[in-house]
Amino acid sequence: MAPATVVSADPAPAATKPTSSTSTKQAATTAGSSNVFHNSTLQDPHTVVAADRHHLILANGQRVLDATGGAAVACIGQSDQRVKQAIAEQLDKVQYCHALFFGNTPSEELANELIDSTGGKMAKVFIVSSGSEAMEAAMKLTRQYFVELSQPQRTQFIARHESYHGITLGALSMGGHKFRRELFKPMLLNNISHVSPCNPYRGKHDGESDEAYVARLARELDDEFQRLGPENVCAFVAEPVVGAALGCVPSVPGYFRAVKSVCDKYGALLIMDEVMCGMGRTGTLHAWQQEDGVVPDIQTIGKGLGAGYMPIAAVMANQKVVDAFNNGTGSFRHGQTYQGHAIASAAALAVQRIIKSDGLLPRAQHLGNILSSVLIERLASHPFVGNIRGRGLFWGIEFVADKKTKEPFDLKEKISMAVHDRGLSTKWNISLFPGTGTADGYKGDHILLAPPYTLTDEEMLDLVHRAVGVVEEEFRERG
Ligand code: PLP
Repeated sequence: MAPATVVSADPAPAATKPTSSTSTKQAATTAGSSNVFHNSTLQDPHTVVAADRHHLILANGQRVLDATGGAAVACIGQSDQRVKQAIAEQLDKVQYCHALFFGNTPSEELANELIDSTGGKMAKVFIVSSGSEAMEAAMKLTRQYFVELSQPQRTQFIARHESYHGITLGALSMGGHKFRRELFKPMLLNNISHVSPCNPYRGKHDGESDEAYVARLARELDDEFQRLGPENVCAFVAEPVVGAALGCVPSVPGYFRAVKSVCDKYGALLIMDEVMCGMGRTGTLHAWQQEDGVVPDIQTIGKGLGAGYMPIAAVMANQKVVDAFNNGTGSFRHGQTYQGHAIASAAALAVQRIIKSDGLLPRAQHLGNILSSVLIERLASHPFVGNIRGRGLFWGIEFVADKKTKEPFDLKEKISMAVHDRGLSTKWNISLFPGTGTADGYKGDHILLAPPYTLTDEEMLDLVHRAVGVVEEEFRERG
């Protein structure tokens, strides 16, 4: 039975005034030292005290142009009045009800909106709060799908090296991000293996055609199915455009058609992780919409879904997957306290309607054309820029110590971090996302550019010229 839908709740008593602890906290953060357990406990990052549209305003008053929308999140910029209003209106109705017992209007409308956006290729949406949770849910959905089909032996996932699927233990196990996995290896799942990613810059042999490269990768995947026993494999997992782990690497044409046919041959599911590259980032709402008609069985989304106004992510499943549940136990044995959160859903719904009504998908593509053409024009021949790649408004620059051999810089050089730090100088005022290399020898040392879809052409040009300036100056000073 579907849960009852909650449409509003009795108004709460008037809010109480902020306590004195608010001002103490404010003083602590503006002083730049807080009790927040930051990733680096040695050094607090800059404190952002406000934002205006495409800039972050630091405690010292500096205005920093956010060239990556955080981590490809803030796709419609900050402070959109329509999202704020949607959040406020939902706060006046109902903030929270438990998804096990009740539905709520915004999450139902958001699910409808998302299914429509796939042209009905997906059938149901499971709403959570982060990309990692979405990946965990996708893994459990896959496991239960095969149990529902009486194939419980299918427990093996195949993912790819140099990938990132999230930070919780299941999602971290799925990823092939060496550095992030290393410390936690004894705690990771052992039913996941990894094959080569589709990364033409480093993976293609000299003179090899796209077709031959794709065929080689598909053969490797097929061999991995054979090694594990095809009847034991439940799914192949990949990002259509690799984000954090490699720095915006799209697959070559034909790759997803080839890997999908391997999955189909053995009855395994194809899971696409679009947490970073989805929701318009590549110029279509879903990255798979540029993959030659290939549709995943399960898809995860996040980041641009709520554009940072609220923490929200989701898993979408196609009718085949949903049918297995409907014809089986009828329930997904998984659930979380904040699943389908009403306020987060209202925010995401407003964001998605803005992307549509403001024509932001063609806008992202247009801005991406400006971004990529300037990057290529100004940096392609730079002696330490190995590769510029991306799709839509999602671009990465990979740095190398030797352009010919593609030899990466020594790990100690920390190039991408240095470029990021230099960007934050008062001269450049631009935030660039640094990507640590993920493979042996620090291959894949890059920065990532993923600005909002809402920039004007002039702002886009200013952004890309500033970003190029930061890179040029960093290497000039290194000598
Ligand atoms: N999947 C991909 C492709 C990601 O890029 C990320 C985060 O960067 C995640 C999953 C995890 O998302 P979150 O950080 O919201 O948990």
